[in-house]
Amino acid sequence: MNLNGKVAVVTGSSKGIGAAIALAYAKAGAEVAINYNRDKAGAEEIVRKIQAMGHKAKAYQADVSNPDQVKEFIDAVMNDFGKIDILVNNAGITRDTLLVRMKEEDWDRVMDVNLKSMFLCTKAVAKAMIKQRSGKIINITSVVGLIGNPGQANYTAAKAGVIGFTKTVAKELGPRGIQVNAIAPGFIISQMTESLPEKVKEKMLSSIPLGRFGKPEDVADLALFLASDKSDYITGQVFNVDGGMVM
Ligand code: NAP
Repeated sequence: MNLNGKVAVVTGSSKGIGAAIALAYAKAGAEVAINYNRDKAGAEEIVRKIQAMGHKAKAYQADVSNPDQVKEFIDAVMNDFGKIDILVNNAGITRDTLLVRMKEEDWDRVMDVNLKSMFLCTKAVAKAMIKQRSGKIINITSVVGLIGNPGQANYTAAKAGVIGFTKTVAKELGPRGIQVNAIAPGFIISQMTESLPEKVKEKMLSSIPLGRFGKPEDVADLALFLASDKSDYITGQVFNVDGGMVM
């Protein structure tokens, strides 16, 4: 699979799954716009790795839940790279606690960063993709958006929302030559999951038929396929990358 000549935007690519996707795209030949909110050093490290492969990359600070920052970010990418072929809506956060203890601000923040960001970023790139009559949009949801998870009412609601959003946008943009799909990771080793208590991790591991946690690269492999022309006849789908955790 090659992405020669393509320009990709990956939100939340300073670390974890987003960084792995950005590196996989660059390895396949793409130029990549890296986005971060707080971790400037992480984002710059990914840029350096991509440049070392001989490809163009640049880091952009933007809180993807903020409309003005998203507009500025996407305008800057269009200015610097000239076009956008691939958008990966990956940025996400958790603020876990049981429903009865969940603060309204924890609900709002998780919905804004995990779901509203998809609306803002997708809308911002859609015009350019419609004009060029091609594009690939990949939204990162989660298996818990399909099955629920105690302590994650905010996160699971946002991730389930991502699935509805993906299907609607796939229907709206399909006739314009744009494919929109979602990836639902299971338990992937990253900063997001490393702070979970050992007991929770052990329980999760016992529910994974393949007997191991996922790596960010496991998700990146599918994201590469979905960004390539090998997936041109696939849209509106949700693909689990979870070692068989949910089936
Ligand atoms: P991670 O290691 O915590 O990385 C999260 C990324 O999102 C970071 O680059 C972070 O940037 C960025 N981000 C957070 N808030 C942002 C904001 N407001 N604006 C822009 N960027 C922001 O998490 P991960 O595990 O790689 O998760 C990536 C995606 O996969 C998320 O959508 C997550 O929900 C989903 N997912 C993960 C798992 C898992 O097991 N790890 C499972 C299912 C789904 P800064 O650090 O620079 O702020």
